[in-house]
Parts: sequence; C-alpha cells; structure tokens
Amino acid sequence: MKLSNIFGHLKTVLKHKWLVFKLSIKAGIPIRGFFHDISKFSPVEFWESAKFYQGGKRSPITKAKMEQGYSKAWIHHKNNNKHHFEYWYDYTLKEQPIIPFKYCVEMVCDKLSASMVYEGSNWTKESELKYWLEHEYKNAIANDKIKEFFTEVFTEISKKGIDEVISKKNLKRIYDKYCRSSN
Ligand SMILES: [Zn+2]
Repeated sequence: MKLSNIFGHLKTVLKHKWLVFKLSIKAGIPIRGFFHDISKFSPVEFWESAKFYQGGKRSPITKAKMEQGYSKAWIHHKNNNKHHFEYWYDYTLKEQPIIPFKYCVEMVCDKLSASMVYEGSNWTKESELKYWLEHEYKNAIANDKIKEFFTEVFTEISKKGIDEVISKKNLKRIYDKYCRSSN
C-alpha cells in the first residue's frame, strides 16, 4: 500500500465531506451533513478505497469492481447509509419505496459534492443535471416519484445555481410536489 494512496484517499474523503457539510447547512440538515459518509472511515471501506485510489478524479469503488468483480467497501457503504438508493432497494417489491425527505436532501448534497470534487474547475451549474440524466436517471432502480424529485432539483440548479435552489423550504416544496401523499 502506497502512503500517497492513503493520504490521497483521505484528502478526497475529507474534501467531499466538507463540501457536503457546507451544502447540508444551506439545506437545513447540518447534523446529517456532519456525519455524512462516516462509514468511509471503517477499515472495510477505508483500506479497499485507499488501495484502488484513482487520484481523486474517479471513484475507487468503480476500480475495485473492475478488478475484483465486486467492492466490499461499496457493499458495506450502501448497507449502512440511507442516502443511497441501494439501501432502500428491495427486489421483492413491485414499486420501490418513497425515501424519506431528510435522506433525499442528503443525497442532493452528496451528488453535488461528488460531481464538484471529481470535476474540479470544470464544474458548472449544469454539470449535475447532465450527470444525473446521462448516468443515473435511467440506471437507478428507485421510485419514479423520487427520480422526478431529483430531476427537478438538478434542473432548477442548472438554471438558477445552487444558492437559489438549496434551501430546506425549496427542497421540501419540490419533494411535496411528487411525494407528499406517501410521507
Ligand atoms: Zn455515501
């Protein structure tokens, strides 16, 4: 294990957590933001991701899956973090669950922070919508109402920017538009 991998991975995680924390304050979920991704410091997640560190530009989890066929870090992460669609996914259900509001808000902060860290200076307010539509929207197995919530949030951000869109009130308004009856 290279020392530069360990510190590089640690730096990427801390940068991601710091951005999520700042966004979570705007979004009205500071406690969730503070503890976001804390399981990345567990040995099972930390050491695999340090081993497959990709210079902070791509996910080590993707690399681990390519090399090993699966990622232990990811399996542990999705089973311990409610801010991932995969935590809620249940193949025995005809319709996937409506994820509670606070975890959807954490997901918004997480996705924005991830694209900002990976894209760096190339990040624009359109970046997340583009990534969501091209990579996640069609692949994610989640309730359609939840997917529509994300599409609308990222579309608004692409037009108005983060500061105008990320507030608890505005996110709740969009969430209630699609998911109110169920929560
Ligand atoms: Zn996470």
